[in-house]
Amino acid sequence: MKKIEMKTPLVEMDGDEMTRILWKLIKEELILPFIDLKSEYYDLGLEHRNATDDQVTVDAANANKKYGVAVKCATITPNAARMTEYDLKEMWKSPNGTIRAILDGTVFRAPITVKGIEPNVKSWKQPITIARHAYGDVYKNTEMIIPGPGRAELVYTAADGTETRELIHEYKGAGVLQGMHNLNASIESFARSCFTFALDTKQDLWFSTKDTISKKYDHTFKDIFQDIFEKDYKEKFAQAGITYFYTLIDDAVARVMKSEGGFIWACKNYDGDVMSDMISSAFGSLAMMTSVLVSPEGNYEYEAAHGTVQRHYYKYLKGEETSTNSVATIFAWSGALRKRGELDSLPALCHFADLLEKATIQTIEEGKMTKDLALITSLQNPQVHSSEAFIEAIRATLETLI
Ligand code: NAP
Ligand code: MG
Repeated sequence: MKKIEMKTPLVEMDGDEMTRILWKLIKEELILPFIDLKSEYYDLGLEHRNATDDQVTVDAANANKKYGVAVKCATITPNAARMTEYDLKEMWKSPNGTIRAILDGTVFRAPITVKGIEPNVKSWKQPITIARHAYGDVYKNTEMIIPGPGRAELVYTAADGTETRELIHEYKGAGVLQGMHNLNASIESFARSCFTFALDTKQDLWFSTKDTISKKYDHTFKDIFQDIFEKDYKEKFAQAGITYFYTLIDDAVARVMKSEGGFIWACKNYDGDVMSDMISSAFGSLAMMTSVLVSPEGNYEYEAAHGTVQRHYYKYLKGEETSTNSVATIFAWSGALRKRGELDSLPALCHFADLLEKATIQTIEEGKMTKDLALITSLQNPQVHSSEAFIEAIRATLETLI
């Protein structure tokens, strides 16, 4: 069989622990036999990040900017335990944080749905994608413990020295205080990423905040989205047959629970953090959740939503059999290859991505799956596969489809 040709290299970011093991298997079994893979490889494994003083992460993000599409393996975000485990020079920052800071994007998370893994919400028939704003608010706040009576004010000092003050509270006793901010530029790029992704995936876009209570802060989010929509996206949405819909966060929550799914739900930073965990667990499993970072300029970075599955890796190191789910990592590859195919006008590459996803889903629906899914499936006799055997089973299905 002739392998599928590529034009532009895919930026490949390797990672850590169990997902690094899966990465190699996926490439060997599901990618390299079928595609003449052109990739620019960056090793984001913690050892190599440490050896390069984390320069490799910056280089990888810049390559993502240059070529447009990347596929990333899960990576360790160092903490105190990792400092000793890997003998690190420094507690390097989260690679995802570094990449996001360079690309300035929004993260979209969507569950992969299969028959036999039913969502807990009966009405959901299609995946719900969460778009989380990844800058500011409570994640970059300033807090104070107020010990006793006193006055708290917001003070803004303009560049020319003029002060604007707003009373927050006249404390009669002890309490707490918090200051948050956001930036129009960041909200604008969040909005553009959401509108672009909705057009890309031909799904309606919902956006929700609490603008009735937060009449300036949240209202600014609402206004920026509306302005950008009217100016640059209204016609494109009409042509694509999709809609943009703003509603209050509490109304959105109620509607989501009664919906059939099949749309993108854009959320402010905190709402997105909370709602994405709710959506992913209600759809079944973190191991079935994909994640894509979309920058306002239209650069894409695909990955699994889960981490490096450390506990399974330690079993693997001891020579024990593992049953780690590779579906989200496989979908990161198919997502990236499809996007590369779209950008380079390579229908064969897009078709391969479709088949790879189809083969993965079909394999599970035939009852062959990893342990995490076997525990929650409604299928009758699921066969638990090891990490390796599951990928081999997908390869066998893929070969019948090709
Ligand atoms: P994790 O890797 O997501 O795993 C947590 C648990 O969820 C696992 O122990 C496993 O449960 C289950 N699980 C997750 N993915 C699975 C899969 N593909 N197949 C089967 N089970 C799966 O989270 P963590 O253990 O908290 O974090 C490990 C490392 O990942 C940390 O160093 C963290 O920094 C990093 N991390 C990276 C990213 C990223 O790169 N995007 C995201 C999150 C975390 P059982 O053990 O019960 O089987
Ligand atoms: Mg969270």
